[in-house]
Amino acid sequence: MAEQAITQEQLFLPLLHFISDHGGEIDRQEDRLLDALADRLGLTDEERSRTTEGGSRNQWRSTVEFSRAKLLDEYRAIDNDSPQGIWRLTDRGRAMVEHPPSEIQESFREWRQRRLAHLPQDALPPPFRPSGRAVTRLENMSQGLTREVTETLRVKRNAGLAKALREEYKYRCQLCDDSHPDCPPIPMADGRYYVEVHHLHGLAEVAARHEHGQLSDSEYANLTSWHNIVVVCPYHHMLIHHHDPPLEFVRNELAFRTADGGAALKIVRRLESHLEATATDGEGK
Ligand SMILES: [Zn+2]
Ligand SMILES: [Zn+2]
Repeated sequence: MAEQAITQEQLFLPLLHFISDHGGEIDRQEDRLLDALADRLGLTDEERSRTTEGGSRNQWRSTVEFSRAKLLDEYRAIDNDSPQGIWRLTDRGRAMVEHPPSEIQESFREWRQRRLAHLPQDALPPPFRPSGRAVTRLENMSQGLTREVTETLRVKRNAGLAKALREEYKYRCQLCDDSHPDCPPIPMADGRYYVEVHHLHGLAEVAARHEHGQLSDSEYANLTSWHNIVVVCPYHHMLIHHHDPPLEFVRNELAFRTADGGAALKIVRRLESHLEATATDGEGK
């Protein structure tokens, strides 16, 4: 018999996230839990339809149900008193989504790495993080950026990442006041508004640092991440580039400001954790 596509323990984190992403409660019957969760993990049709030893039960269903039972019994992460068929996170369960115990994180990581190394035919690559929220999507896309080192460093900018970030920001500038934008929204033929993206650490800087051997892999990862990008209107984009004295990005204030303090622009963050600290901002902050 084929082994399980994922074990009960490896499923703890994805299952908690799945319930959390559905408002903290799912109806076991109505939410098409089994397929939706399998989709999220990239399981194949074959893995979803395998039967347990003896052929009496669906293996995927058993894994999900036993995983839920353990989260209830051992972690008290799922409510014991909710009505039949309702899986509801307890306060403890919610806290576990925010700060998962390390053994749970480790199980998921192990599963993911094993699967990446031996990806079954027809399976989709496993998700980097087990949640389906916008933030996760952007993190995943950041991970997908490629690195090419030739004569100098070439960074293949991921147009898809910039596009996704503009979408998530609903085409609104992060420097404009929503109710009184400095640059009036520019409607386009497809119904969206025109906005640009600005890379906080640019390519020239990356290349220079690389040539001096100053760029570590973690720094590289940060440079090519969504934490290095802000969504801006054309007015503010040119302001950042051409204002004199120069406007410097100050991450711990989420602002651009001149060294003399004469001008300052606050950045509006509309996505949780966007622009969180990265290694390239090191320098004591
Ligand atoms: Zn603006
Ligand atoms: Zn720019």
